[in-house]
Amino acid sequence: MPLLFLADIDAMLKKILLFSTTFLLLSACATSPTGRTQFIYMPDNQVDQMGLQAFDSLKAKTPISRNPRYSQFAQCVAYAITQQTGGQWEVVVFEDESLNAFALPGNKIGVHTGLLNLVDNQDQLAAVIGHEVGHVLSRHSNERLSQETAVSTGLSMVQAVTQPQTALGQTALGVLGIGAEYGVILPYSRIHETEADTIGLDLMAKAGFDPRQSINLWLKMDKAAQGGQPIEFMSTHPSHGSRIDNLNQHMNQALQLQQQAWNSGRQPRCAK
Ligand SMILES: [Zn+2]
Repeated sequence: MPLLFLADIDAMLKKILLFSTTFLLLSACATSPTGRTQFIYMPDNQVDQMGLQAFDSLKAKTPISRNPRYSQFAQCVAYAITQQTGGQWEVVVFEDESLNAFALPGNKIGVHTGLLNLVDNQDQLAAVIGHEVGHVLSRHSNERLSQETAVSTGLSMVQAVTQPQTALGQTALGVLGIGAEYGVILPYSRIHETEADTIGLDLMAKAGFDPRQSINLWLKMDKAAQGGQPIEFMSTHPSHGSRIDNLNQHMNQALQLQQQAWNSGRQPRCAK
């Protein structure tokens, strides 16, 4: 092959790379559901793909509960919440005593039996699931990928998520918020936690659950953490002093939303 031709290809590839990087960076500004400006460059379908693959790996690794009581309870609460977001969501109960639940891009929800045993009622479970779905609706995984990695690394993480034994794969799982399952902790930032709380409160109230139970749930989580229970949830969703304040600030509005939901016939009755 003539040398000149190779040089042409090289120049052309560089131009394509420059163009696609510029395109990605130009399209990188987004707005979250609470109106916050976000830096996001990963295509959402790629992040969804990561979520689907991570969920498949978890299903292969962790036993799925066959107890219909657990499954019906989790499905009932998750269904009421996700009715408010649209789309089809898959809900799986994992046989695992640690207190945890998670939602992944690609509309996947996982709940541990340990958490189902901890909560007192449907509203407390709705608080956790609402919070988790809040992270997904706010595209926090995409934002974390975009903030913490270069464009090329971000794209290669989509493949790496299937290999939890590699460093890149572990980071990818951490970014998705389920690193703790593989021994990697990557906590959400305070900004992301507050945003997920606000959206979660809104979702649970619109679904007809009692938003005040969100506060009881967080207090219960804190207490369990102090008691030394294995709490994966608290390691990735760190507690902070202003969490309860923020929930209280939005409580009146949330109670109004719950009343509207009840008036429209949305009054979930999910038996624990
Ligand atoms: Zn969180």
